[in-house]
Amino acid sequence: MRINIAIDGPSAAGKSTIARKAAARLGYVHLDTGAMYRCTAYKALEQGISLEDEDAVCRMLEKTDIVLTPQGSVLLDGKDVSEVIREEKTSMAASKVSKLGRVRKELVKRQQKMAEAKGFIMDGRDIGTVVLPHAEVKIFMTASPEARAKRRYDQDQLKGIESGSLEEIASEIRARDEQDMNRKESPLRKADDAVLLDTSDMSIDEVVDAVVKMAQERIGEQA
Ligand code: C5P
Repeated sequence: MRINIAIDGPSAAGKSTIARKAAARLGYVHLDTGAMYRCTAYKALEQGISLEDEDAVCRMLEKTDIVLTPQGSVLLDGKDVSEVIREEKTSMAASKVSKLGRVRKELVKRQQKMAEAKGFIMDGRDIGTVVLPHAEVKIFMTASPEARAKRRYDQDQLKGIESGSLEEIASEIRARDEQDMNRKESPLRKADDAVLLDTSDMSIDEVVDAVVKMAQERIGEQA
């Protein structure tokens, strides 16, 4: 019996890292929905389309192919953009573009289609509330702003991604939290039936263990 797992939470809470590792342990597929908003913003920036022009962004999106491979790569119109979409300017642009209701509608539709078969761990901001409201496991993952800034900084250093100082990253995370929590369309919030997981003082392995345990319990109940 396969289930779907929804992981939501603020920026840099470690959702994607945890989801990827938990998916590997469970033999599930990880879908990083933030990558789809990042691709949309990245392509709009490349094409000089205003991130506030909903019609233009939607027209562009109609002709945009976004593939999240089971190996974790992100293909935008066939090109591997896995690394380049992580740059800071694209993070803020993704948050801007994600305020557009029709953009969300289109991406949510694609995400729901992807997860139809079950066996997915999807991470984002609105998975438990909007995309997969019936997911068998819902987790709202958070960590203190300091812990999140430090993690993102270390991750960027490790990957060789161009990033700012720890302070700059902390302020970018604050700005994105603010924008994501206060937007009109599907603001970031914990679903009523999601389990709150504060990972500030937990290691990656401890968080992965906790997620896998929750999943296995539900899989056991369903069997
Ligand atoms: O998760 P990640 O930081 O890559 O997401 C980039 C941006 O995309 C977020 O700041 C948020 O504004 C938006 N997003 C969203 N809904 C999702 C996933 C991401 O609005 N399901």
